[in-house]
Amino acid sequence: MRIDLHTHSRASDGTQSPAEVVALAAEAGLDVLGLTDHDSAAGWAEARAAADSAGIVVVPGIEISTKHQGAGVHLLAYVPDPTHPGLTAELDLILAGRSGRLAAMLAQLREAGVHIDEPEVMRQVGEAKAIGRPHIADVLVAKGYADDRADAFDSWLNWGRPGYVTRYASDTRAMVRLVTAAGGAAVVAHPWGRGSRRVLDLPTLASLQADGLVGIEVDHQDHNGTEREGLRVIARELDLVSTGSSDFHGEGKVDHELGCNLTDPAQYERLLEAAAHNAAKAAGVAGPAVVRPGPSVQVE
Ligand SMILES: [Zn+2]
Ligand SMILES: [Zn+2]
Repeated sequence: MRIDLHTHSRASDGTQSPAEVVALAAEAGLDVLGLTDHDSAAGWAEARAAADSAGIVVVPGIEISTKHQGAGVHLLAYVPDPTHPGLTAELDLILAGRSGRLAAMLAQLREAGVHIDEPEVMRQVGEAKAIGRPHIADVLVAKGYADDRADAFDSWLNWGRPGYVTRYASDTRAMVRLVTAAGGAAVVAHPWGRGSRRVLDLPTLASLQADGLVGIEVDHQDHNGTEREGLRVIARELDLVSTGSSDFHGEGKVDHELGCNLTDPAQYERLLEAAAHNAAKAAGVAGPAVVRPGPSVQVE
């Protein structure tokens, strides 16, 4: 069974529609595809509808922007209830932060001599809910300010470059609790990728696990062989689920082809079990019996 649990569509910063990602996944010989657009569940319905005809299973997820001790941490939320009030309120804040940041970034770029305007960026954004730096990067490339997305980030958009502006991100620990309460399974994406490595050591992951963290993404292109081995040891030691995924973005990210990293079927089963457990608990039908105050005393 070939399982890839982390991909993006045009619902955030990928270059294919959700249905196209599903079709490509089937072509690539995948049996299970996780669609995990940034901060939004907007692509779920289309991906699910496409899954049947493609003959594969779609696991709906969201890659949520969070922050731990000042460092950006991406948290994958698998099958949370997308209508959970606490979760939707927090996602709305993150999406508003993404939109609000655009004007500030364009102003800073203008000061550095880069002239692109909001309508140009919004044409790239299309129907996506999550406005991201990749959309600005694509405009920079199209107008000759950069060779490709990577160059646009290195020259203009990364921290310390002229176009960088910080934006709202949820607290990692609070979001782990929220995803769990919404009946989902929380997994840290590329924990030792840029940014988050310095804050995500074993004790930190253990303490996040106490708040509901289910797993860590071990096999990811941001991790070299040594890092993957180190994370595998941590996952074993803490009994965390370990996943592997492509982080596919279509043409938006090179060297992230569908299926380039896979999740072991036994780990996938554990992930689903954890999500089912959390969902049952959220619905109040399983786990340690919930003692509800019954109507034993009638008060007039
Ligand atoms: Zn990420
Ligand atoms: Zn991603």
